[in-house]
Amino acid sequence: MLVSAKEMLNKAKAGKYAVGQFNINNLEWTKAILLTAQENNSPVILGVSEGAGKYMCGYNTVVGMVNGMLETLNITVPVALHLDHGSYNGALACIEAGFSSIMFDGSHYPIEENIEKTKELIRIAGEKGISVEAEVGAIGGEEDGVIGGGEVADPAECKMIADLGVDMLAAGIGNIHGKYPANWKGLNFDVLAKIQELTGTMPLVLHGGTGIPADMIKTAISLGVSKINVNTECQLAFADATRKYIEAGKDLEGKGFDPRKLLAPGFEAIKATVKEKMELFGSIDKA
Ligand SMILES: [Zn+2]
Repeated sequence: MLVSAKEMLNKAKAGKYAVGQFNINNLEWTKAILLTAQENNSPVILGVSEGAGKYMCGYNTVVGMVNGMLETLNITVPVALHLDHGSYNGALACIEAGFSSIMFDGSHYPIEENIEKTKELIRIAGEKGISVEAEVGAIGGEEDGVIGGGEVADPAECKMIADLGVDMLAAGIGNIHGKYPANWKGLNFDVLAKIQELTGTMPLVLHGGTGIPADMIKTAISLGVSKINVNTECQLAFADATRKYIEAGKDLEGKGFDPRKLLAPGFEAIKATVKEKMELFGSIDKA
């Protein structure tokens, strides 16, 4: 059964580790992430962007697929199904469809409007035990058409949003979605420390986990980051493994064109990437 992300993240914050949010795109992605979490006895958050939700034929299809897998694969570790960078209406649709967690990305609204909409969603989600993530300071880069300028969040605004009763807070600290440019300045740990000081036990969320060096990830966790989002890295691993299979001509050997064979190397590559991240984040055996 799906669970809210609240309890697993509060445990992570107290235990000084982070839970990975891995975004899903299809059946192979979902199965790879769930099996890896179970094999490593790690809690996990499945992220679904609005674009990926549409691609997978809507939120009802996603909920049906994930719930079916939890049962058939005997997944017993805590799993949250989370809307990533949701709009207000997208969040309502996911609450209705059976997601166990939502992110409302109101970072592009003026702070007053972000607060109003966040409060309303906290009330509606709260009635169903669904956890809520809010964002302050747009995350840089492009994700599903949402373009952020890589702002650094104002710690006082973070405190205001945290006090509304969200369960986790994403704050821009120079992180961006997608690949990091060669001249990237790194994460702003001074701001992160200030946010953590003002928001206390609130689990903080680091978006754009792909390509942040391991030592920066560890420092971020030590400063209160309890959830780290990984999306691009699984995509790159999947594409690379699939390319190798085809370039080696394996799809032309025997029944190598069978999708169950063709997609297998990519599936294994996602599993390896997810395991590596769980090791780095410290969530193994924390289920
Ligand atoms: Zn993000």
